Amino acid sequence: MVNPPDSEQPLSLLQTLRKGHSPSLAPVHQVFCNRDLNLAEVEAVGFDMDYTLAHYHQDAIERLSVEKTLERLVLERGYPREILDLKVPTDFAIRGLVVDTVRGNIFKLDSHRFVGRVYHGFKELHGDDIIEYHTQAMSMTTSRYALVDTLFALPEAALYATLVDYLERTRPGQRHDWRRLYEDIRYSIDLAHRDDSIKDEIIANMEQYLTRNLDLAHTLQRLRSAGKKLFVLTNSYARFTEHVMSYLLDGLLPQLPRWQDYFDIVITGASKPGFFTDRQPFLRVDASEEVSGEEFGHFEPGQMYQGGNLIDFHRMTGFRPDRVLYVGDHIYGDIVRSKKSTAWRTAMVVQEIEGELLRTDELREERARLDAIEHELVRINEEIAFELGLARRLHELDVPDCDAEVQEAFAEIKRTQSQLRARRQAILQELWQVERQLEGEFNRYWGLLFKMGNENTILGEQIEVYACIYMSRVENLVHYSPMHYFRAPRQPMPHERS
Ligand code: IMP
Ligand code: MG
Repeated sequence: MVNPPDSEQPLSLLQTLRKGHSPSLAPVHQVFCNRDLNLAEVEAVGFDMDYTLAHYHQDAIERLSVEKTLERLVLERGYPREILDLKVPTDFAIRGLVVDTVRGNIFKLDSHRFVGRVYHGFKELHGDDIIEYHTQAMSMTTSRYALVDTLFALPEAALYATLVDYLERTRPGQRHDWRRLYEDIRYSIDLAHRDDSIKDEIIANMEQYLTRNLDLAHTLQRLRSAGKKLFVLTNSYARFTEHVMSYLLDGLLPQLPRWQDYFDIVITGASKPGFFTDRQPFLRVDASEEVSGEEFGHFEPGQMYQGGNLIDFHRMTGFRPDRVLYVGDHIYGDIVRSKKSTAWRTAMVVQEIEGELLRTDELREERARLDAIEHELVRINEEIAFELGLARRLHELDVPDCDAEVQEAFAEIKRTQSQLRARRQAILQELWQVERQLEGEFNRYWGLLFKMGNENTILGEQIEVYACIYMSRVENLVHYSPMHYFRAPRQPMPHERS
């Protein structure tokens, strides 16, 4: 009997499930590991809400924050009404930038605190205009510098650049108080968050600002089924938390109909990083933020809390600190501070990775070209070093200088060296151009989020040091067993690589 060709055989159930799937996950769905983490040993998983469980549409929320902030600059700080018509680009700012509130500049730093690109408004500065950054010790802890370290802060940086640009254009030659401008923007955006105008707009139009995703429900449900306690620890207050969480999770899984069913503890208005360092009491609150007393004993399921602190959290839950995994998006408030104050394990959600990975894949050819140029540079440097070695050995031969053969040899080495140096100069120029062009494909002002040339940015460095694992979305965890052992790649030091 002749077997029919494969394609005509009916597929088994397992074959159907396997079809079109590969055992290796696409990078955008992966969880990346800096430090070994055994999920089997984790007894409780905590989640920040905004930009962690809740994935915002960055463009929409930036436009909203800008609009509300401009309104307040006009009404509360006396700025001219014409600023309401300014176009504030939503593709300008990235996390990890630093605002120099004295000079009115914004710059990008690498992990050695070396200042790379610098903008004044939308004008890139070079040479003497930025010499100060390269010749003086930078102390990022002074109030002169403000870090753009959350996605909520991107509109603030974009607004600062826009208003610096506007003031330079409309009042040229005047002395400007860039510090005051920064403080006015900070005050106005803070107010827009606190007076609930941003939140009310989000609540009224959830689908415009947030993505709803069944995978989130599955991720949380799988962790629960594996016996882990789940908790929410957010700086958002109860009313907003209730609206957002309900939009994200209510009605997705029949066995967990309400969002509260997923969590054992819900802590709102936590004032991170203060939660990790101060001693605020836990208040019992309802969804309208009505306080009904303090909590001293233990957390009630279904009850929302406000405030609180790390010490009482552990006293009331009995969780072993090194068996708590906390998932957040704010490098300082969620990740660095928790790492410094407790033995909690940390997972960071970096929404931007998704776009960067997709773009990196599309730019495979350009990256290969850059690698080839870098290899060529290494080769030329080796040749130059070799020629130098030849000249040294020639000296060591101790033959009289007037020997014609020696003189010819020296001249030949000199000619080769100058050809090699000229070639190196051309390669360096090409390298710089290709690198800039490639980086511009990611963010045309700043390049990549985690890289500045070959160095990590300060944000990349902090994630490497403080986040045990990181991923673009919480939902990426759904692709791993709740008992998965994340293993960090062995990182050889440069001398071990040779
Ligand atoms: P989390 O990320 O869930 O901890 O919550 C962040 C909360 O901080 C959200 O409710 C934001 O609206 C709020 N937020 C972000 N930036 C500011 C600000 O500049 N002032 C006041 N609240 C802010
Ligand atoms: Mg957050």
